[in-house]
Amino acid sequence: MRLIFIGPPGVGKGTQSALFASRMGIFTLSSGEIFRKEIEAQTDLGRLAQSYIRHGDLVPNGVTIEMMAKRLREPEVRKKGFILDGFPRTIRQAEALEEILTELDMPLESVVSLEVDVQLIVDRLKDRLGCTKCGENYNSKSKPPTRDGFCDKCNSPLMVRSDDQPDAIRNRLESFRAETAPVVDFYENLGLLRRVDSSRDPEQVYQEILKSIQ
Ligand code: AMP
Repeated sequence: MRLIFIGPPGVGKGTQSALFASRMGIFTLSSGEIFRKEIEAQTDLGRLAQSYIRHGDLVPNGVTIEMMAKRLREPEVRKKGFILDGFPRTIRQAEALEEILTELDMPLESVVSLEVDVQLIVDRLKDRLGCTKCGENYNSKSKPPTRDGFCDKCNSPLMVRSDDQPDAIRNRLESFRAETAPVVDFYENLGLLRRVDSSRDPEQVYQEILKSIQ
């Protein structure tokens, strides 16, 4: 399987890619998650990314494309296939991805656009909690952890992401509108786009995605 999950922040891309990874054994490559790992490890890339991510701005195309190209070339990804979550987010990234996948002879099968009302996104993001270690997402209202403040999966502390603060949320939604919405059109023009309503519960959305890509 070679898929992209695309959609605004908080639409459920991470939740769905985790479901696909655990049930189907597909690699998910989340650019946001890779950046967060680099930040935690305090690498040069992490420091650079942090200065953008903190404000909800996009990390520059050059370093982002290089980072994702490196992952896509890994033998195991080439063998098992992938779901891209959060990449590409700009037309420049989408064009670069086309070049990389052509070079690797791994054409995309489908691009799943997850779609919900903006107000629902704002509500989801302001109550979102993430695990500092494994990246699992929770929501203090709709999906609370069993033990307050700690991850059900690995017991590590949960935190509110710094870019889930109101100003950063606004910025991220704006960069989706300005930079990423054209990427949705790009894939629509290539005939690869499948639109899925992501306002329902994760299991229903999962089934809808499966149906849409068959
Ligand atoms: P996410 O976890 O996908 O919401 O990503 C968190 C943040 O990482 C975004 O708000 C951006 O600042 C940065 N980021 C993730 N993916 C990309 C990308 N493809 N291009 C540029 N910045 C990105």
